[in-house]
Amino acid sequence: MAIYGGIEAGGTKFVCAVGTGPDELQAETQFPTTSPDETIGRAVDFFKAQPIELAAIGIAAFGPVDLDPASPTYGHITTTPKPGWTQANLAGRISRALGVPVGFDTDVNGAALGEHRWGAARGLDTFLYLTIGTGIGGGGMLGGNLMHGLIHPEMGHMRLPHDWDADPFPGICPYHGDCLEGMAAGPAIQARWGQPAQTLPDDHPAWPLQARYLALALANLICTLSPQRIILGGGVMNVPQLFPLVRREVQDLLNGYVQAPEILDQIDCYIVPPGLASRAGVLGALALAEAAASTQQ
Ligand code: ZN
Repeated sequence: MAIYGGIEAGGTKFVCAVGTGPDELQAETQFPTTSPDETIGRAVDFFKAQPIELAAIGIAAFGPVDLDPASPTYGHITTTPKPGWTQANLAGRISRALGVPVGFDTDVNGAALGEHRWGAARGLDTFLYLTIGTGIGGGGMLGGNLMHGLIHPEMGHMRLPHDWDADPFPGICPYHGDCLEGMAAGPAIQARWGQPAQTLPDDHPAWPLQARYLALALANLICTLSPQRIILGGGVMNVPQLFPLVRREVQDLLNGYVQAPEILDQIDCYIVPPGLASRAGVLGALALAEAAASTQQ
């Protein structure tokens, strides 16, 4: 049976694992994301130390990334503000060092593929995975294919209506100010209220406002892409009251127009947490490896 390697390459930490799926992980490690040389070197050392030959490696990476196989900078992180990582050739260096096929995609597309393989999106062909954490990103499948296109989706930077009287906070996105990420990522909540999101009490006005922004984004995505399900991961979504607030707000915003029982009557099963919980990222990377190995054959 083929064994795969997966790298959840985050802006804060790298998680590396070896195995075939959620019930079959043979080794795992994690370390902070420092310079590309040191971080990629540690990942390579971990995989080289494994006693078995890996069939492929999957990398689910922070971005933006170049996903165009015809591009000379395919597999690179492109324009990140993270020091040292602009134009870092992540996939190429891993592939050269280990000599195996490499599957490379965004962190959210990786997580989406993992959820499709083993989690909350099994059996679906059109669904979304969004992470709401230190940033906001979204990916998923359309008609059974991971979304790529021109670059890759940047759902975190969609523009939303902003009621300046209700919320005078200008937002923190360096490009757009009050885009979705600028208003609703963890650091935006902290900047608006002057304390970290996880220290705000359950009945704080931060939460209905947060639910409002997320629901505005989801309503736009539902009307644009018609997903069969939406998975919301990331640290901010660990706040227990958020899911019910977001679901109700999505129903209110759509106002009965999208005539699907999933939205009208079964929204608890329509807007859901990841089936793989906090493992969605690294298991998604394993799923990318599995997909890379099967295209090679
Ligand atoms: Zn933005």
